[in-house]
Amino acid sequence: MRALILGGTREARDLAALLVGRGDYVISSLAGRVKDPALPVGEVRIGGFGGPEGLTEWIREHSIDVLFDATHPFAEKISQSAATACATTGTPLIHLHRPAWEKQPGETWIEVSSMDEAAAESARFSTVLLTIGRQKLAHFAGCDSTRFLIRCVDPPEVALPPQHDILLSRGPFTIDGEKDLIQSNGIEALVTKNSGGDLTHAKLEAARDLHIPVIIVQRPPLPAEGTLVHTAADAIAALP
Ligand code: NAP
Repeated sequence: MRALILGGTREARDLAALLVGRGDYVISSLAGRVKDPALPVGEVRIGGFGGPEGLTEWIREHSIDVLFDATHPFAEKISQSAATACATTGTPLIHLHRPAWEKQPGETWIEVSSMDEAAAESARFSTVLLTIGRQKLAHFAGCDSTRFLIRCVDPPEVALPPQHDILLSRGPFTIDGEKDLIQSNGIEALVTKNSGGDLTHAKLEAARDLHIPVIIVQRPPLPAEGTLVHTAADAIAALP
């Protein structure tokens, strides 16, 4: 079987390892956003396809039998491209997305559905920890009365809010480490996407223990095409 994995996540790397272990031909695709990405086993290609049409062409040229969309749940455009390309080529599509976080007792969530709403909510606080990655930071550029501690893996290259500090750091994080970060910076609220998974969950537990509200951006909807699973093993079980 020839599989294309749209990746950039731990789940995608887990899936590549399982498929290679079964003897399948696997090529993983990364967008190329992160300077020093963790690489999966098997073949890797890096860079966009040129929209749904480019991906359609690529699937045909490489005789792909199945497409796994194992991208981050907030990577909306590539998931849509995958849906369109699979519908056009008749390729089976499996979305592998880790489950969303659910609010736990003691947590205070301010749930929003867009980065602009998250920015508007942030403006109610003096000091906010911003953990949304670096691509969407420009949505916060107009928040001039709030100080942001921006944590991301690589340096941001977009407009930033006037009062900010940058902390370059890659998870996983510990609850104690997150509490220390919140307390030593006088953080009053944190902003996160509802990414799900264990790697970055400690900040929610730290916020709960310190009675800090979490402004949480809910996931964009998945395209209707394809089968949704939550683990690499389930992705293999879902193969046609
Ligand atoms: P996006 O908005 O959905 O994608 C923008 C464009 O980047 C797509 O149209 C596509 O270009 C290209 N692209 C995205 N993922 C690709 C992949 N795996 N392989 C080849 N091209 C890809 O995605 P994003 O939010 O910028 O995320 C980019 C990548 O980072 C994703 O692969 C995702 O898994 C990973 N990531 C994202 C987040 C997040 O919070 N968004 C967090 C962690 C990791 P073309 O249209 O030219 O094909």
